[in-house]
Amino acid sequence: MRILLVADLHINKPKFNWVLDVSGQFDAICIPGDFLDMLIDLDAYPLFGQIRWVQDWFKRLQTPTFVCSGNHDWFCSHPQAAPLINANAEGGWLDSSNAQVFSDKSNTLLKTHRFICNPWLGTPKLHNPSKSPIVLLTHAPAAETTLSKDLTADYGDEHLLETIYALPPSSLVLSGHVHEAKNWYLKIGHAHCFNAGVGYPDQKAPNHIIIDTVAKTATLHGWNRITVRQLI
Ligand SMILES: [Zn+2]
Repeated sequence: MRILLVADLHINKPKFNWVLDVSGQFDAICIPGDFLDMLIDLDAYPLFGQIRWVQDWFKRLQTPTFVCSGNHDWFCSHPQAAPLINANAEGGWLDSSNAQVFSDKSNTLLKTHRFICNPWLGTPKLHNPSKSPIVLLTHAPAAETTLSKDLTADYGDEHLLETIYALPPSSLVLSGHVHEAKNWYLKIGHAHCFNAGVGYPDQKAPNHIIIDTVAKTATLHGWNRITVRQLI
């Protein structure tokens, strides 16, 4: 199975369109969070305009696509959200009418792997009757790792390591959130953990990782270089 991982698109429309353009080359697209951008000028880019644009984009996908909410996708405390404080404010807006898009709390067996989408601040539930390798989407990487730290701080999830150690062999943990983490790949327990980071603004394609579960390779395309890791 060929999986495309990209995260932190932050309403960058050319990046979204690049994902759509290449999506047919993969068995699964995985986008672990931060579709929206809460830090740009929300008068110029209103929150609900951003949401509608991403929801329309979801409708165009024809490849199974797994998504989870990030901190930018929860807007319960934002003033523009006041008219619509309900489940949508906590990532519920990611629920798509497109049956190919699987969002927060979904648990889906696709071919050889079980895909679990963990909401922002959630604790993953590893219900896995098929005993398959798990592909866990969760926005923040595990804390105290090179995936969660940049040169100044640690932005990781302090509760995730315990979950990762409970994953079956050949599982994958797909994250984003830390735009310039010290590393893009780390093996923790039985699991291969990833954070593609956010590349240079002038990159044609966003930073992304292609995982081939049969060849057992992961390839980072980012920061104007290509790096391949064997997943052993
Ligand atoms: Zn984030």
